[in-house]
Amino acid sequence: MVAEASRVALVTGGSRGIGRELALGLAGHGLAVAVLGRSLDSLAETVDGCRRAGADALAVTADVRDAGSVARAVEEAADRLGTVDLLVNNAGTIDSDEVGFADADLDDMLAVMDVNLLGPMRVIHAVLAGMRGSGAGRILNVNSGMAYRRGAAYTAYCVSKGGLGRLTDSLAHQLADDGVVVLDVSPGLVRTDMTESMAMWQEMDDPPWGEAADIVGVALRLADGDLDELSGRFVHAAKDDLGTLLEVLPGDRDARTFGLHTYGSRDPLG
Ligand code: NAP
Repeated sequence: MVAEASRVALVTGGSRGIGRELALGLAGHGLAVAVLGRSLDSLAETVDGCRRAGADALAVTADVRDAGSVARAVEEAADRLGTVDLLVNNAGTIDSDEVGFADADLDDMLAVMDVNLLGPMRVIHAVLAGMRGSGAGRILNVNSGMAYRRGAAYTAYCVSKGGLGRLTDSLAHQLADDGVVVLDVSPGLVRTDMTESMAMWQEMDDPPWGEAADIVGVALRLADGDLDELSGRFVHAAKDDLGTLLEVLPGDRDARTFGLHTYGSRDPLG
């Protein structure tokens, strides 16, 4: 059976950076786009760009730390554009200081967890009734390679993105029978306000900058239904070849999923 393409996208954190590029890319691909952010003013440029690309587009205001505002934004998007069938969980933030856990400010770290992990949980919860009701939906969680590395700094960012990886894997299994696909996608390293704030990139001579176009390309393939078989997996938009992933991953249950490294056949947890 040929998968139906997604028609109505909701992109969180669409005011700037990668979220803006994702919204514009999906609009240019023919989807209606609701762009979610904290203020109408900050979203205006993205929404104008989506409309210039020929799409139905709408700004919806919400703070992903506030479940009530998220639920209202999702309802408004559905009323104006139709049921959201592609959610892009892009809104994110990073620890203010490039220091280890012991030296980091606790409130700052908790705020990062709130936006990066609890935020996607709130938005997914709000869109799920619509997706399950129609028997179809796709969720792209914007993740990071930092979820899988032992960083010396940015602890809350790494932990929040690790938690997001667990959420992706869990939901992909729980929602498979509802026709809902969930994918974790890292954009690679893209020059944005977030990366400009990180000393590690400012101090490096020649950081390996990539382009937001890579993750936009993955989002469009997801919207077209080409990546449904990859539900639950982690994809690196800058490094991966999607053809290879589509060839290899369906035959390997655990590859590119969030999991425990075991010590081989004698490991009781293997
Ligand atoms: P960015 O330029 O700093 O943009 C962050 C976006 O998130 C803004 O639109 C911001 O809106 C929004 N946001 C932050 N807190 C929010 C909240 N509480 N409620 C609603 N929206 C909120 O960052 P970016 O680099 O584009 O990052 C986008 C995503 O990519 C993040 O999830 C990040 O972790 C991920 N990522 C980025 C890179 C990279 O190299 N840039 C690499 C790996 C992963 P406001 O304008 O209202 O602040």
